[in-house]
Amino acid sequence: MKSFPVILSAPSGGGKTTIARELLKRRKDVGYSVSCTTRPPREGEVEGRDYYFVNTAEFAAARERGDFAEFADVHGRMYGTLRREVDRVLGEGRHVVMDIDVQGARQFIGAYPDSVLIFVLPPDAQVLLDRLRTRGTEDEDSLARRLKSAAAELRSVGLYHYVVINDDLDRTVNAVSGIVSSEGSRFERVSDLEDRVGVLVSNLEAELANMNRS
Ligand code: 5GP
Repeated sequence: MKSFPVILSAPSGGGKTTIARELLKRRKDVGYSVSCTTRPPREGEVEGRDYYFVNTAEFAAARERGDFAEFADVHGRMYGTLRREVDRVLGEGRHVVMDIDVQGARQFIGAYPDSVLIFVLPPDAQVLLDRLRTRGTEDEDSLARRLKSAAAELRSVGLYHYVVINDDLDRTVNAVSGIVSSEGSRFERVSDLEDRVGVLVSNLEAELANMNRS
């Protein structure tokens, strides 16, 4: 099966990072692309696992070199997907899951048209607001910025191929995993399809020829 990129987007606090992590735990055929960001690490975040944390000059230099498959300013900080990360995971024969915003998804599908875009919707507005507030990592200004961009992101849902409602983590991860499996079975993604079918057909024809002879 040919591997492909899977983009998960959701308004901030929509739970997509948790979904991506859980998907990685459950499926050996999925890997993660670690993004670059200019935002400082949060408590518990690890360099090279959660992000590559860089300064503005380093980010600009990477952009100039064409290192990014997409990049965007999200809530006043720069985020970018490294082509080499995506190609590394695809090169290992695994699907590459990414947690990127709507602007990034729009650019990324231009660079990798084979991508599958999944939008994760919160079950209702109250859940989204509660998740944003209880996160506790944001001051009021940045919370307001996130609310505004969440509204803008929700309006871009039409760009996506699939929508999953995140009302229960287990069910949501199952739904995302089901999408990955189904997409892998698409006609154009099945490896050596012509050869496989060709062998089957010639075996059947040989059998038919035997029957006709006897
Ligand atoms: P956070 O700072 O909370 O980890 O992420 C903030 C937002 O940036 C989320 O909406 C996340 O999807 C988005 N994001 C994370 N990595 C990337 C990336 O590489 N590119 C883009 N465009 N957005 C990203």
